[in-house]
Amino acid sequence: MTIAIYPGSFDPITNGHIDIIKSGTEIFDKVIIAVSKNIGKEGFLPIDTRVNLIKESLKDFENIEVTSYEGLTVDFAKNCGAKVLIRGLRNSLDFEYEMEMAQTNSALCCDIKTVFLTAKPEHNYISSSAVREILINKGDISKLVPNPVLEYLVYRK
Ligand code: ADP
Repeated sequence: MTIAIYPGSFDPITNGHIDIIKSGTEIFDKVIIAVSKNIGKEGFLPIDTRVNLIKESLKDFENIEVTSYEGLTVDFAKNCGAKVLIRGLRNSLDFEYEMEMAQTNSALCCDIKTVFLTAKPEHNYISSSAVREILINKGDISKLVPNPVLEYLVYRK
């Protein structure tokens, strides 16, 4: 059984992330979506809210698990029995950053392999930071995020 982890901030989860997760579940037996707790960086949404929004957005997926973690990603992966670390690529800027991260993680733990996946073309440009920026300026985020996130961020009272 090949377990993969998909670590990230997911602040909030977007349709781009969902595409990556869907592909991951088609390739691997189980995908663990892991929200990283960034020490000293509070973020936009609390960690538990991010985890709950991911769970609600992925309730039709069977071979997934959603959790949060702190510390080194490779240590978390090892504790989960994961041999694969999924990351997404949008453009060459992502590539530069992700390549460095993959090599660092490989130096820390050569047993864990990073696999890069891409979103559908129509979701490729989406980022959580753009969602936050558009939301703050009262723009339309309905094409960028799954329904539970839209409901939570826009329609919640
Ligand atoms: P991090 O803070 O770890 O970069 P993010 O939640 O922003 O966390 O992203 C997690 C991963 O998903 C990263 O590898 C990022 O490049 C990838 N990703 C985010 N949005 C997209 C998208 N629209 N298409 C492809 N990959 C994406």
